[in-house]
Amino acid sequence: MDKPEGLANVEPVRLDKNSEFKFKCHKGVKCFTQCCRDINIILTPYDIIQLKNRLELSSEEFLAIYTEPQILEKTDLPVITLKLLEAEGSDSDSKACPFVREDGCLVYVDRPTTCRYYPLGVASLSHKDDADGGEFYFFVHEPHCLGFEEDASWTVAKWREDQGVDIHDRINAEWTDLLVRKRSFPPNMKFTEQTKKMFFLASYNIDKFKEFVFESSFLKRYAVDADTVEKIKTDEIELLQFGMRWLKWLLFKEGDFEIKQDENN
Ligand code: SF4
Ligand code: SF4
Repeated sequence: MDKPEGLANVEPVRLDKNSEFKFKCHKGVKCFTQCCRDINIILTPYDIIQLKNRLELSSEEFLAIYTEPQILEKTDLPVITLKLLEAEGSDSDSKACPFVREDGCLVYVDRPTTCRYYPLGVASLSHKDDADGGEFYFFVHEPHCLGFEEDASWTVAKWREDQGVDIHDRINAEWTDLLVRKRSFPPNMKFTEQTKKMFFLASYNIDKFKEFVFESSFLKRYAVDADTVEKIKTDEIELLQFGMRWLKWLLFKEGDFEIKQDENN
């Protein structure tokens, strides 16, 4: 099995929702918080909304303080990763998540999707319109992690439920689909820099995207019904889903977005 991009410690075992494993993480393990160091955590759009709200920051401020952009090689689209800091009390080059403390995760209730999945990872083989859904799981088994030696049994499905992964995956589904869809296209199919900027805006900078929708000519250009306009004014998740539908149209000319008739002339 190919290792998913950016993951060095992936075990070559393909798991499904019924696969069983033993694992427990708690403050008593010797390795407590080791997994929050020297990591690459890609943030999903919903992660960013949860974290910026928890920290009472705008999405712009959160992105500037806590994140770094990267381009995913296989999709040529920007993704956002948590910016690591020099680990406290460390004389090596070790870097740590900005939210890790001696007694655990400062933002535990709103921790990112990747942290919820750990020690599992998820990969999608095909975009969701394909018949089989194409999703599978794998272990991210790092040598320092002693959680596998603990005596607690799970299935992948139970772990996802326990960690609150399902709601994250549901809200991020359209965004994941865009990345997977692009990956399935020939590598020479490139987006313009402007299209990539729009992908970044709608996916990660939700407050600026809201300004863009309501303070530019966006609503004059696109036919958006009054009910949707009302919803996206007050509900960030509705706005995010709306942004994903718009991106699907912008990137792949698919979906139900329409340019107003007088704008076509
Ligand atoms: S390394 Fe594993 S067992 Fe240790 S704190 Fe992290 S998840 Fe828990
Ligand atoms: S967000 Fe929390 S759980 Fe995730 S790496 Fe940072 S400290 Fe660890």
